[in-house]
Amino acid sequence: MKALLKTLSEAYGPSGAEDQVREVVRAEVRKLADYVTVDPLGNLIAVVKQQSKTGKKIMLAAHMDEIGFAVTHVDAAGFARVLPSGGVNPLASVGQRVRFANGRLGVVGLDARRDDLGKPPTLSEMFIDLGASSRAANPVQVGDVAGFWRPLEDLGGRLIGKSLDDRVGVAILIETLRALKRTPHEVAFVFTVQEEIGLRGAGVAAFGLDADLGLALDVTRTGDTPNGPKMETALGAGPAIKVRDARMLTDPRIKELLLARAREAKIPTQLEVLEGGTTDAAAMQLARGGLPVGCVSVPARYIHTPSEMVDYGDVQQCVALLLAVLHKPIEL
Ligand SMILES: [Zn+2]
Repeated sequence: MKALLKTLSEAYGPSGAEDQVREVVRAEVRKLADYVTVDPLGNLIAVVKQQSKTGKKIMLAAHMDEIGFAVTHVDAAGFARVLPSGGVNPLASVGQRVRFANGRLGVVGLDARRDDLGKPPTLSEMFIDLGASSRAANPVQVGDVAGFWRPLEDLGGRLIGKSLDDRVGVAILIETLRALKRTPHEVAFVFTVQEEIGLRGAGVAAFGLDADLGLALDVTRTGDTPNGPKMETALGAGPAIKVRDARMLTDPRIKELLLARAREAKIPTQLEVLEGGTTDAAAMQLARGGLPVGCVSVPARYIHTPSEMVDYGDVQQCVALLLAVLHKPIEL
């Protein structure tokens, strides 16, 4: 699974430009699912057909897109000015390497002349230097989007990479589909687009699927770093079962289902309350007439930086938990 995580993490895929990630996913799931479709927004949906009349229709979602930098203007000297695409943290951006869809690399620079050097920088004071010496020589256009560029690093138990939010969720769904031997349910594995700019893909996918229940797989913050936020979640303590976040209250029945299946399968879990941020589950919950949803979160440090860190044991336990949920009938 580490090789898959490396391929997914290193793939280019800011919101709206998920093609390269989608092709990696398609190649992995093509032979595993009964059928695979791509909807008009670009969500890739791999379906395992219903195997028993008592089964439920379940939507599982993980987003393919990553945060990025959208070019608004290229100046005469060839520097590209950018807007944030999703929740870009300016503090984590200066000096970072970024990559465009065409593979061109650049570095994020900061205006040297700032009015107030005591203030944290903003993205409007930054630019991308692609090594071009003029506007004409600049290899990108207005509207092109760059994502962070970093190779995945394996520290043994822990992995560091860009876009582990949410390629780790994508990898978990693929591995769950690969390991799923039998299920009474119809399961739609949905690899969503445009999560980072407002949960757009998950909303239309949930409407289209009209499932009985849904789960999102995504990362969550942890409280286990020096002077970190007061949160119960920690790396290495197992999948986090979301109770609530800034835009979603987990359906209590789904929370109990996840906790019960984890207990039966002896999978460690932790409860998650996330004050800021949300996941695809928030959009799924409000699709059509409403959907019972929950979220299994992978604890992660340094989210929305080029060096997101997860624990490999947590990742494997998330796969085990999904399998424990899918293998048996579900009564809500
Ligand atoms: Zn995410």
